[in-house]
Amino acid sequence: MTYQIVLLPRNDYWKWVKASRDYVLAFGANLTPDPQVVVRSSLDDLVVTFPDGPAAFPELGNAEKWLSALAPRLRLNPIPASTAEEFYAALQPRVDAGDPFGEPKLPISLVWPTDYPVVTQPFGANPQIYGRYGLPGHEGIDFRALSNTNVYAAAAGEVYEVHNPPGGHVYGIHVRLRHGGGFKTSYAHLACPLVRVGETVGAGQLIGKADSTGASNASHLHLLLKKEGATARGETRFPRDIIDPTPFLIRPTSAAAKTVPGWNWPAAKSLLGAVGRPRTSCARATSTWRSAPGWRPSQSRERTAATRFDV
Ligand SMILES: [Zn+2]
Repeated sequence: MTYQIVLLPRNDYWKWVKASRDYVLAFGANLTPDPQVVVRSSLDDLVVTFPDGPAAFPELGNAEKWLSALAPRLRLNPIPASTAEEFYAALQPRVDAGDPFGEPKLPISLVWPTDYPVVTQPFGANPQIYGRYGLPGHEGIDFRALSNTNVYAAAAGEVYEVHNPPGGHVYGIHVRLRHGGGFKTSYAHLACPLVRVGETVGAGQLIGKADSTGASNASHLHLLLKKEGATARGETRFPRDIIDPTPFLIRPTSAAAKTVPGWNWPAAKSLLGAVGRPRTSCARATSTWRSAPGWRPSQSRERTAATRFDV
């Protein structure tokens, strides 16, 4: 639960209160003209919203610096505004959008790519293992996905690579998508791809079946996210523009989770008949795909052992 205090200037206090009225009613925030009240608050998940103008809090100097020095645990939400009118104009779009903190929109959102709402290895985990391959940790997110269960595109995009058969690459059979904004995703260790190079896909579209091909010892989906130029710009500790998908991932709610029979069973206890049996058999899907018009084998790249860790 996030608690919010709106800290307002003492000068013309009631004018500021009036400017904040719709916002406070919409989001249930508390108002105070007293910075000490904010600093003394011991709530854990407290956001302080305040007008950030040169003359707003003359007694504090720079309110943002003052608050972060005295109460470093507070989450500060300064709003550029020197007058109550400006404050009102800045708050109103947030009221209309139902968005109290005006969070900047994420440049990409990733829908959950499997039928199992379980992460089996987070991004950055096990640096001692991945260090051997020149990586500061696990270079993607591993999702639970039993053999031959569905793998979905995490975002809308275009298929730019399908690696099949599995040989010659640490990712085995895998699919790579290009999205807007310089983002790319890869889906590794598949049983089979269900898309072709050049095809456009929607977010949540079925693009393959999961398995354990390549360097993997149990069926799962490895999702990799790249952002063009991220390594060169110092936005990531990882090489090859690999970034952490976690902040962009939309967690499935129980209602939204894609359901397969028994999806919430622990993998070890799942019955193959209930969970593991593919809805579309991989072999059949593959043969359909191979005979599809326009299919050209050269579109699927084979890699050599020398490029094994070219993730
Ligand atoms: Zn992985």
